[in-house]
Amino acid sequence: MNKIEHIGIAVKNLEVSNELYTKLFGKPCYKTETVESEGVKTSFFKVGNNKIELLEAITEDSPIAKFINKKGEGIHHIAFDVTDIESEIARLKTEGFIVLNDKPKKGADNKLVAFLHPKTTNGVLIELCQEIPNKH
Ligand code: ZN
Repeated sequence: MNKIEHIGIAVKNLEVSNELYTKLFGKPCYKTETVESEGVKTSFFKVGNNKIELLEAITEDSPIAKFINKKGEGIHHIAFDVTDIESEIARLKTEGFIVLNDKPKKGADNKLVAFLHPKTTNGVLIELCQEIPNKH
């Protein structure tokens, strides 16, 4: 794993939270994106070299809706940048981690992503993400 790519925060209302985090950071988010397959609307903020992702559920059965029902708003996951997500998934499986996605899927922000089950990582949901190479 290379570095923390971003930290994901589950919110009830993205518009309201965008305003709040714009005040907090002193600048607006640089992108918003809906990921239908995950049932989420997201926004991304840059703070120095770091990124914060806010996530709002757009469907009742979205993982974010379930998280908020259970735990309320708050830190949802930590994402780590990896160079080769397929080999990282294979390596982590042999180390005994439960990987929630056998195959990486397309996430927000032009990334291939996979998640590790929090029960194998001390309660922390960990996202692996690999930048999808530009076609040009
Ligand atoms: Zn994320």
